[in-house]
Amino acid sequence: MNKKSPYAVVAPHILPEPKKCALKKDSFALLADFSLETVLPFPLGTASLQSLFPFREKGGLPFVVEKWEESPSPEGYSLEIGEEKIVLKAASERALLHACRTLKQLRNGTTLPCGTIEDYPSVPLRGFHANLASCRQFEGEETRDLLKKMGKFKLNAFLLEYNARFPFSSHPLIPTCNAFSREDVASFERICRENCIEIIPLVQCLGHNAHIRRLEEYAKYFEPDCPDGTKSAQLCPLSEEAFSLFKALTEEILEAHPGGRYLHLGGDEARSLGMCPKCASFAEKHGTGALYIDYINKCAAFAKSMGRTPIIWDDMLSRHPELIDKADRDLVIMVWDYWTTMDPSPLTVFRPAGKGIVLDRRIAENDFAALEEPERLIARTFGRAEDLEELSNANEGSRLFRKYLGKEFPLRCTAFPFVDLYLEKGFSVLGAPTALGNTVDDIYGLPNFMRFRKNIYAFAQKCKKYALPGMITTAWFDFAPELLETGMICTANDLWTK
Ligand SMILES: [Zn+2]
Repeated sequence: MNKKSPYAVVAPHILPEPKKCALKKDSFALLADFSLETVLPFPLGTASLQSLFPFREKGGLPFVVEKWEESPSPEGYSLEIGEEKIVLKAASERALLHACRTLKQLRNGTTLPCGTIEDYPSVPLRGFHANLASCRQFEGEETRDLLKKMGKFKLNAFLLEYNARFPFSSHPLIPTCNAFSREDVASFERICRENCIEIIPLVQCLGHNAHIRRLEEYAKYFEPDCPDGTKSAQLCPLSEEAFSLFKALTEEILEAHPGGRYLHLGGDEARSLGMCPKCASFAEKHGTGALYIDYINKCAAFAKSMGRTPIIWDDMLSRHPELIDKADRDLVIMVWDYWTTMDPSPLTVFRPAGKGIVLDRRIAENDFAALEEPERLIARTFGRAEDLEELSNANEGSRLFRKYLGKEFPLRCTAFPFVDLYLEKGFSVLGAPTALGNTVDDIYGLPNFMRFRKNIYAFAQKCKKYALPGMITTAWFDFAPELLETGMICTANDLWTK
């Protein structure tokens, strides 16, 4: 037997990086005809961990699989790779799959480096999102490819937004010419199951429904068109028919993707509240905010009746903090922010004052000299120079928000301060940075990857610091799907490591 180790120079890099990893450079396990697909039943499907004990590679090294009882996480696994024996311990089926992913990255032909690995993630829910309506280059094959790669890097959730690309049979006019086939949908479900990835369907309950409004048959469910003639993309929150439509579309998607814990209701950027006569009269009596929050609570009750925990985007509640106390406490708030890249941050999203991305005017007056890249480019491209002291006194919501902006305010603000606000109010919070959101700060014709890299990292750090249940990185724009892969790997690594 040739004992010369193929790892003599350098051990492979494993992504996401294991918590504890001690690999020897001069010793390796030689496996007869080694391939993980034959060692373990791939895909795992319904195979239980128990059914794998004891296991021995056919005609080769003893390959022992055991349950890791004392694992610090349900996704924890450990590997002891010796020249005579390999012991794999896993806390669950998902953990077993993670161990196999690691073995695949370690493998060099029919050899593995000897050593030990003890590994588990830092954040429980680690996800990636794709708005398949706007990311049109995701056809069936590209979507399947993304899901397999998410599995490879140990992500465990896919926030799936179909819009008009779902092959609705209850409303057959809605699917667009680029809608997926039933076979595509079934394949997404199957690949996610095989890779232990939880699907979280996102169905817009209120705004962002232009894909339905494009059909005149559905105009009656929508708020009136804008004065400039633009069609409203927002369902009427007081229309029972609109609510029934939302429910019917959701039920079809949940039927295709059963078994998940969550339903994302969208609920972001609802800018046409109180426009139709019925809504206007309701808003006059109870306030515009009540239109929004009553409807969201109704949708949350529907989600719960379907056995799902409801999720909403945070921007409407962030803009109107007075609504927070009226929101159903079972709502999970998903805080999205694509511009914060460090903590504390020179930029903050000042939604309570209706201002968007702002930074203190003193930084801007000095031509952003106090900033380095990429913050300088982000500030130049997106930041509105404001007197933040003044802004934090603009209204009651701003004063409430000010409390969470940290000691270095106004020149620097605590990163993702809304997270602190929602946690204090008793909500469960998920983070949402971006791998491809808003591309006006392109560099040499390609998206500003450094913004996305630092945004994902900063949000992951916040998740770990506050022990949030999870983070899902978003993707919105119609670039080649391959451009998203690095953001996906960053997400996987940042949420796994310490
Ligand atoms: Zn209305």
